[in-house]
Amino acid sequence: MYSITRNIRKITPICKNGLKSSSFINSSRVTIPNRTYSNQTSTNIASSTFSKTPLGVMSEELFLQPINPATCSPITDLKIDTKISLKAKFDAAYLFKEEWRNVELSEKKLMIQRFRDNLIQNTDSIAATLTKETGKPITQATNEVIAVIERINFFLANIDSVLKEQVVRTTEKFQEKIVREPVGVIAAISAWNYPIFIGLNVIIPALLAGNCVLYKPSEFSSLTGISIMNCLYEAGVPQEAFQIVLGKKIISQSLLNLPIDGVYFTGSYATGKSISENLAGRMIKQQLELGGKDAVYVHESADLKTAVASIADGAMYNTGQSCCSVERIYVDKSIYDTFVNELVQVVKSFKFSFDPTNPQTYFGPLTRGVPQIEHLQRLIGSALKRGAILELGGNVLSKAPGYFFAPTIVSNVHHGMEIQREELFGPVVTVQPVSGPTEAALLMNDTPYGLTGSVYSEDAGVANFIAEKSNTGTVYWNACDRVSPYLPWSGRGASGIGATLGIEGIENFTRIKALHLIAPAKDYFGNPSNSQIVTKVTNLVNLEDQMESLKIAQKGANFYEAADGSLKKYTLNDVKPISSYATQGNAFPFVNESLFESEEKAEENEVRDLLKSGKVRKVNKEDPYVPISSIKKD
Ligand code: NAD
Repeated sequence: MYSITRNIRKITPICKNGLKSSSFINSSRVTIPNRTYSNQTSTNIASSTFSKTPLGVMSEELFLQPINPATCSPITDLKIDTKISLKAKFDAAYLFKEEWRNVELSEKKLMIQRFRDNLIQNTDSIAATLTKETGKPITQATNEVIAVIERINFFLANIDSVLKEQVVRTTEKFQEKIVREPVGVIAAISAWNYPIFIGLNVIIPALLAGNCVLYKPSEFSSLTGISIMNCLYEAGVPQEAFQIVLGKKIISQSLLNLPIDGVYFTGSYATGKSISENLAGRMIKQQLELGGKDAVYVHESADLKTAVASIADGAMYNTGQSCCSVERIYVDKSIYDTFVNELVQVVKSFKFSFDPTNPQTYFGPLTRGVPQIEHLQRLIGSALKRGAILELGGNVLSKAPGYFFAPTIVSNVHHGMEIQREELFGPVVTVQPVSGPTEAALLMNDTPYGLTGSVYSEDAGVANFIAEKSNTGTVYWNACDRVSPYLPWSGRGASGIGATLGIEGIENFTRIKALHLIAPAKDYFGNPSNSQIVTKVTNLVNLEDQMESLKIAQKGANFYEAADGSLKKYTLNDVKPISSYATQGNAFPFVNESLFESEEKAEENEVRDLLKSGKVRKVNKEDPYVPISSIKKD
């Protein structure tokens, strides 16, 4: 099926169903063009060799040259940061952190709302920039800008409740509560494959929670990073609260060496490991969102047509350059051949073109170019050498103006092959037959990564089995390659630590502080303190809550048990402002905490509890609930 020589570049693929090209990458075609700069010297030469800049040699002007991966042509000359400019940015953030923390949350929310509106208004130009510098097909780039709006809305809707102080216990003598504070000045170091999603998953909750952000976009998506920055500034976010750090690995390492309070990194396992080692011994907040080797199991009960369509898209969307792209497919033996044939047909139907600006184009180029192509060639080549079958693709396309790699399906693989162990990060997927759910679960977990796992089955028992066994932060049933703003996104093992999105993805940008509050016996004037009323005061942190409580009371429909054991309803008269230990302001004396459940269900639950406890029982429609004691008296 496949002939191979010792030099991997000379492999000649013979593909069962492949696209018509057979030539491998011509390295002379894809070399990055170099530019010369007026200030170029042997020590400050920028373009792609900034990482060789010797420590201690500072140039005032360094440049990066973003390349369009679809054409290999340079886009612009981008001035990047030096250690000096980086230090100035850090200092500005550090000096501003108290001020930013103290900006009212309502004001911060307004800024983020305006930012969101700016994104919507500039969708087309931001998507065009993203397509130009990463090669992401324009329809997918536009989708990314549009879909991020839901995430921003989620953060806006939930930030108040996350930041609200939480009273854990109140007695006559003391109160215990938890408050959340910003982490401080944080570094957000980002990847290029979904720069808008990944960037804003961190930037928005971090800013709302009161942190100052030093944002280092990938050198492959710096221009998109600058678009984000412009929209934030236009929305009124102060320059000291959000600053961009441009450059490559070396400036990222310099950023880590500053006395920052936290690092939020998204990128490869190799870089995550290096960052973690770099930070060893420094007690700062660290979040690492790393790679994946995401697996799917297709059970024989699956609706095959739907499953194939969904999995093909999950493997190939964004040209397979997603942390949660499907890379391994395990299929029950009874349906294996049919599945493979159908998968090939569906993937072949996705539009391939060399023009990512065409709205019909589904596949784009590989953003990182030659190293990514060589990585895929190495893994495919060594698998084929060990007996894997190339069902589709496997090669660089001839006549390609940029870094295009054919969509590839490799079957007959096993776990002795590197292709089943290393992250591919390209339009390549493997298929392996299994004997059933038990073997599938074992193989799915036979990886250092733990990002997502997925099962396609009409049988809920099988789905539950895989969901329970899967050692991943996310599990899908009849779905894959999916992210929801409402759920935490987290990895296990080599896929990282921490979470973005969901409520946890807001909390992670705060530090908790536990408060033990003991009221003084006497007040300032020597009079007995009113701390004895503490038990009657529920924590009301802001006016909004007080109004909410009033509204509940006004309904007059809630019960409480009075000191004599009788059951009474609240009326407005029961709600009188008193001095509050918790807030040192006005609050309302409620006996029953359940009144503060914002849900309509609160009352229902309370009555249910009372019924259960035997304190009331239902008698008639007009006066449905009557205390047991009063019935007994009658
Ligand atoms: P990368 O690790 O090469 O680079 C990520 C960022 O780190 C870039 O900004 C880069 O300049 C910087 N960097 C590189 N070396 C560094 C070092 N030694 N110290 C500090 N910073 C350094 O990753 P990439 O190629 O940009 O992104 C692809 C990877 O990201 C894939 O592995 C993918 O799975 C992963 N990813 C994970 C998630 C997730 O949510 N888990 C999301 C997207 C991408």
